[in-house]
Amino acid sequence: MKRHYIFIIVSVLIFCINSLDHSLNAQSAGKFKKVVIDAGHGGKDPGAHGNYAKEKDIVLAVALKLGNYIEKYMPEVEVIYTRKKDVFVPLSERAQIANKADANLFISIHANYISNPKITGTETFALGLHRTQDNLEVAKKENSVIVLEEDYSTTYEDFDPNSSESYIIFELYQNIYLNQSLEMADLVQHQFTERVGRRNRGVKQAGFLVLRETAMPGVLVELGFLSNSNEEKYLTSNEGQALLASGIFRAFRDYKDSFEAKNNLDIKEVVAQKATSDVLYRIQVASSKKQIKVGTSIYKKFDKLFEYKDGKLYKYAVGESTTFNEISKQVSEVQGIVKDCFVIAFKDGKRITLQEARQLTNE
Ligand SMILES: [Zn+2]
Repeated sequence: MKRHYIFIIVSVLIFCINSLDHSLNAQSAGKFKKVVIDAGHGGKDPGAHGNYAKEKDIVLAVALKLGNYIEKYMPEVEVIYTRKKDVFVPLSERAQIANKADANLFISIHANYISNPKITGTETFALGLHRTQDNLEVAKKENSVIVLEEDYSTTYEDFDPNSSESYIIFELYQNIYLNQSLEMADLVQHQFTERVGRRNRGVKQAGFLVLRETAMPGVLVELGFLSNSNEEKYLTSNEGQALLASGIFRAFRDYKDSFEAKNNLDIKEVVAQKATSDVLYRIQVASSKKQIKVGTSIYKKFDKLFEYKDGKLYKYAVGESTTFNEISKQVSEVQGIVKDCFVIAFKDGKRITLQEARQLTNE
């Protein structure tokens, strides 16, 4: 009985989501096209162990359910799986699959294990430098699977998954996809908490190799702890798996809507997607026909760089202020790094002239 009831709720929820989705206008520009669903582990790599369950089986079941929902209710989105069976796929190959497909989003699905059996809850990660030892431990555990790959030290450029020092490099990977990745992570945790009723351990950052290698926004979802017997039971149950998959599905739907709304603007701010009606001033420091790769040239010179697209050009700016007066004070400092920098202005995410901006801010 109970199982039936839950399935009806899930189906109705998904139906509602679907109707909403279809009511959106069908502009083809800036559409979300492809998502990669990555079921962690597989084959000779079982991942975490519970009393009886293996991480690889749980995450595959949830990944396939999630993919099914998307294929069924969003036929316009192509779903790409890194594995659909119990096979071993190296981390770098998972990323290659996503990069080759030029996907819009990467979702890696995992389950957790910790020595304290009392700990429960879900958490979703974006790539970055860990802020706590716990987050580092999750990354170490998930990355350690590379030692099962032949020649892993060459593939991952001598990255040692078990050495804390290897992870310092992730400070440099505060990449242009961070905001989108965090947005998706937030949406997933929101659904898990509000709709699925799981304990929320929050949105976090850590150095996951599989996310580092993917050239797109991406998240790594930890569905719960196999070290806790209640969660093990939930994670292995059909309804638990269906609810978790529907939670990620709903988060994905919201992410896709938001992605398409932003990409239909004439000028998009890839990093700073502040939906503000205020005028925003910045200092432009570079412009390029090709997108500048994170970690190279200009990225090394500034802590925080904003990328936006203006016609065919990628443009890069620093600083952020709502008054011309305030941004002007920052110019001389930036000039010390990029001599021919200049102040630019945005309103509602669109570039406007300085004259227009200063009229709006009465300066
Ligand atoms: Zn895992």
